[in-house]
Order: sequence, then structure tokens, then C-alpha cells
Amino acid sequence: MNDRNSVVPSSQPSTDDRVIGATKHPPAERYEFFKVVQRYLDQASKLAGIPEHVRVILSQPKAEIIVHFPVRMDNGEYRLFKGYRIQHNNILGPYKGGMRFHEDASLDDFKALAAMMTWKCALMGLPFGGGKGGIKFNPRDVSRGELSRVTRRFFHSLGSNIGPDYDIPAPDVGTNAQTMAWALDTYMNTVGTVSKTAMQGVVTGKPVSVGGTLGREKATGQGLVHAVRNWAERNKFDLSGKKLILQGFGNVGSNAAVLLSHLGVSLVAVGDHTGYFYNSEGFNSYRLKQYVEQHGSVQGYPNGSKISREEFFGVAADLFVPAALENQVGVQEAEALQVRLVAEGANGPCSPEGEEVLRRRGIDILPDVLANAGGVTVSYYEWVQNKRSENWTLEEVDDRLERAMTDAYERVEHFAETHHCDFRLACYGVALERLARAYVDREIFP
Ligand code: NAD
Repeated sequence: MNDRNSVVPSSQPSTDDRVIGATKHPPAERYEFFKVVQRYLDQASKLAGIPEHVRVILSQPKAEIIVHFPVRMDNGEYRLFKGYRIQHNNILGPYKGGMRFHEDASLDDFKALAAMMTWKCALMGLPFGGGKGGIKFNPRDVSRGELSRVTRRFFHSLGSNIGPDYDIPAPDVGTNAQTMAWALDTYMNTVGTVSKTAMQGVVTGKPVSVGGTLGREKATGQGLVHAVRNWAERNKFDLSGKKLILQGFGNVGSNAAVLLSHLGVSLVAVGDHTGYFYNSEGFNSYRLKQYVEQHGSVQGYPNGSKISREEFFGVAADLFVPAALENQVGVQEAEALQVRLVAEGANGPCSPEGEEVLRRRGIDILPDVLANAGGVTVSYYEWVQNKRSENWTLEEVDDRLERAMTDAYERVEHFAETHHCDFRLACYGVALERLARAYVDREIFP
């Protein structure tokens, strides 16, 4: 029998059960990311005096979309993939948030990440809500052609569940500007419209050649550096000559490392999905970034010695930037860290237990909702430029981002001081106050 055209299930389970990845969530430590986010929501709602009905509405996503779609692989077989799009809230504007391609991704993660996008956009004062989605598979396991077909079929399956005024995806772990270019092209060619250019804003984080903005590629790292600078100013902490350890050297991590190096911060230890490396003299972040762009990981980069994950967390430094995945800093890692500040490039990198230890040890945390909000902020600038058919200069994007990050930092600082709480709850508090005002003014239909 010729089975070249038969549909074979992908290696992933076909249920939407939480899948426990070997690298991320060892079975003994089942991590329920969405519950963690819900707990912060409950605590911050109490602090900020958010009406109970608003808290309840925000405790669940508005929609959870799951699609299954076949893709022709290079060997002629068809593989069935499972894709997600969680639309958490849109009272402030279209759903907005990244698409993640990762083998450990789960419905629970996407729900947590979508909710965090709602808080992030509200905190930054953007006219967006929160969404997140992606596919549970490892994009490194497929060829470029297969990756293009997986992306295109996924966005085709989502159809009119996304749109420039409805739900606007962007890159996240395992996706990039190229992914967004395929998504844009698929959307423009399948959602019939007279004015195709009006559809450009359906995704952000696109290459500049197809309507992306200058400054988006580095935006999340740049925003993180503004947050770190604000923290350093308040704490009279001179960044020059300080040491950084960094987990995750993708879009967020690599740009953060390069931009921090401009402030005199030297990267002494770095890790990604292939392992951890140390250089007491400091890595050249710019050259490492070029190397990773060519080779796909930090593995094999000369000038570094291999260390274990445990050793990495114990390296003496001043700053730690987690920029990989959630739930990376538990109790053990928090006890091991020898830094003054953890600046969360990743979403949810510290477990609540890990965070408790950091707080007890006097290590400051710049929380994800603030520290990595530069990405969605510049995505908003991209969307506005698409709507107005404008092209802003890099200086204009950079200036606006710097002001937006500093304003947000000050709002969070003020909330933390007046409510005597940490920065994470303050981020939630500022965001929830804005969301609650919208709900109270509009009231609940009908
Ligand atoms: P990316 O795919 O560009 O990079 C991810 C990095 O994490 C890679 O270096 C990868 O090797 C590493 N990694 C993966 N699994 C790992 C593991 N088990 N241990 C150690 N390292 C591992 O992704 P990104 O866009 O840089 O996103 C990183 C984090 O930042 C995510 O939490 C994402 O949600 C968050 N974030 C991204 C953006 C953005 O604009 N891209 C914006 C806000 C927040």
C-alpha cells in the first residue's frame, strides 16, 4: 500500500491535557502556570479594590480556540498538528500577543500567557487586550519548507479568528519575523479583501520589508534595558563594570545582552536549550549573537567553558536576566543566585516559591509584565504605522519606547509605594485599575 498520502498523527498527544516536558516541567513538579497568574490576579484585585465581578470576568479567557490541521511533510506523509489561540480579554482593544512554537507548550501555558498580555497592554496604556497561542511542536525538528507550511496551515485554520482589528499575533519563543511574514502572506491571500494593504496590521514583528517597524526586533530587550536603567537610577547602582548572567539567548536575551554591554555590563555566563557556558572575562555579546544567528544556539561558541545548569545559577554576578521560559527559578535556583537584581525578560520565569526566596534574600525583581513590555509597545507602534501608512524613524521609535517604559516604571513604583506591595503586584494593580474603569463605565451587556 502506498502510504505517502496517509495522515499520521504527529508525535504530540491529541488531547489538550497538560503535557509535561522533560526539560521544562519534571513530573514531580507539575507547574500550573495559569493558577499562578490567577493567584496574582486575586491578590492584586484585593489590594487595588477591584470590583468582584471584574475580577471574576478576568479570571478566565473569553475564548479558547483549538485547531487541528494536516501538513504535508518533506517525505510525502501528512502530519496532524494542534494549534491554539487563547483570547483572554478585549475590553481595551483587539486581542494582542505572541505565537509560540515549542514542544512543551500547553493550553495551561497559553491561558497564563494570554492573561499576562492583558495586564501588560493595560499597564502600558495600549489600546489592546491580551491573547496568546501557538503550536506544540519543536520547530527545530522540521525543514524550512515544512516550517513554512506548518505556519501557513495554522494561520489558515485560524481564519477570521484573527484580524488587524480583532486579534493581532506577534513572535514569541520559536517564532520570528519570518514566521510573521508567512502568516501575513497567508492571511492576505486567504481572507478575501479589496484592500490588501489594509490587512498589514494583522501581525506585528514583521520584517520591515513587509510593513514591520524599525526597532521591533530589539524592542523587548531594549525595553528591559530601560527598566534596568530606571531601577539602577533609583537604587544608585552604577551599571558600568557590572556582571550579567543570562538564560536564553534568543530574541529577548541576545538583544538585552548587546544593549546592556553598551552600558558597560559584561556577560559572564549564558545558557540556552543546548547548555550553559562561562567566561570570566565576559563574552562579546555582539559576536555571540551573530554566532547564534548562524548556528541556532550558543553551543560550540569559542571562548567559553561549559558549566552545569546548577553552576550557572551560582555564578557570582550583579544581574540575572532569565529570557527563556517560565518556571526556571524555583527554590533551589533562587537560593543559588548571587546577584542584586533579576530582570524578567521571559514571562513567568520565577515560580512563586522561588520569588519568595529571592525576596527573603533581598534580591530585587523587575517583573515580566513591566520588564518585557517593550515588545508589545513597539508592536503597537508598528500597528499604528500600518494603519496610517507611515514609516517612523528608528529614533522616533526609540524615543517613544524610552518614554513609555519610564512612565510605566513610575506608575508601578507609585502603586507599590502607596499600597506597600512588591513590583509584581503593583504591575497587576495598575493594569487592573485601568481594566476595571472600562468595565465599570461600560457595565456588563445586556
Ligand atoms: P526565542 O525563541 O527567540 O529564544 C528563546 C531562548 O530560550 C533560546 O535561546 C532557547 O535556546 C532558550 N531555551 C529554550 N528552552 C530552554 C531551556 N529549557 N533551558 C534554557 N534555555 C532554553 O524566544 P524569545 O522571543 O526571545 O522569548 C523568550 C522569552 O521572552 C519568552 O518567555 C517569551 O514569552 C518572552 N517574551 C518575548 C517577547 C518577544 O518580543 N519576542 C516579548 C515579551 C516576552
